Amino acid sequence: MPGGYSDAAQMTKQRKRVLILGSTGSIGRSALSVISSLPGEFELVGLAAGRQSKTLAGQVREHAVPQVAIDCERAEADLAQNLPAGTRLHRGPDALIELVRASEPELVLSAIVGAAGLPATLEAVRLGVDVALANKEALVVAGAILMPLARRTGSRLIPVDSEHSAIFQALHAGRREDVRKIYLTASGGPFREWPVDRIEHATLDEALQHPTWSMGPKVTIDSATMMNKSLEVIEARWLFDLEPEQIEVLIHPESIVHSMVEFADGSVIAQLGTPDMRTPIQYAMTWPRRLPCRAAPLNWREIRQLNFEAPDPVRFPALALGFETAQRGGSCGAVFNAANEAAVEAFRRGEIRFGEISRLIARAVADHETIPTPTLEQLLECDAWARREVRECTPS
Ligand code: MG
Repeated sequence: MPGGYSDAAQMTKQRKRVLILGSTGSIGRSALSVISSLPGEFELVGLAAGRQSKTLAGQVREHAVPQVAIDCERAEADLAQNLPAGTRLHRGPDALIELVRASEPELVLSAIVGAAGLPATLEAVRLGVDVALANKEALVVAGAILMPLARRTGSRLIPVDSEHSAIFQALHAGRREDVRKIYLTASGGPFREWPVDRIEHATLDEALQHPTWSMGPKVTIDSATMMNKSLEVIEARWLFDLEPEQIEVLIHPESIVHSMVEFADGSVIAQLGTPDMRTPIQYAMTWPRRLPCRAAPLNWREIRQLNFEAPDPVRFPALALGFETAQRGGSCGAVFNAANEAAVEAFRRGEIRFGEISRLIARAVADHETIPTPTLEQLLECDAWARREVRECTPS
């Protein structure tokens, strides 16, 4: 957990050295627009992306970024051809890790989607660098390793996920030991009111229509299954050192209350705002300061009502699986996450029905024997095993 308010960069007005991992995705692009909107605040020391070499090269040119890496061997040559002269391109399988080391950032925005974002995030934490964490999968897979490591090195993990950013802000209202529970809010996704058999056969286009948030395809599909909320339960469990029983999920279709903390006296502190990812992204980058943001403020005269309800366990079986995984701890999160990534890929390729996603994850989690205190190697083995399990059950 990040500690006090002493922040050298804030006192001396030096620009904060920022490295963005995952700059071509939804979060990364928003982060670049935050940086452009606050001239004099940040120095962009490096960018990395998963595959999109052309977009990445364009960003390097536009923002005059000195160092860059791409997490895809085939895209590397293409990127090299499109970079402006003098740009340092890190190559090879450890390119992202080398970029983390060589660019000497003060803050790493970890926004690569999925388990692929884990090694570079781990390296930043190992170096004691602060991490604005958008890659929830890193904590889901390796929370058992990341959190103790961060405590040892002094690296502060600042959440970017809107719900965790809300909890992080609300926690400032009281003492840590006086927290009774937290409420993670969820929009409920596009299928909140659909009959179960219609959800079973939902198409890719339907799963990609999120009612309130504009996000990348993986997290949007995760919102439709409510796997996203399950991943966030596990993320919260690690980030805020909570028991799973202290976490409750509430459907809140308006997506205005981003999450809440209930203290021992029954007081509930919430963080509210329009559903715009620029707000939590910017807060993670400027924390503990608050600066003007381009996201529209709430218009209280237009908000007629705020609704809350318990999620339906029959429509969304992934949610109970998430709590079971949080309870089991250890290596279980790695299996849970990898099975989901593999199942979502199979769904996006049209190989399985929407309803199969949750069933495939359930089967992998049920067949897994949890390792209570796994090594990183064991976690990566669990990850690979779960992907194989899912592949063996999918026609291709
Ligand atoms: Mg979220």
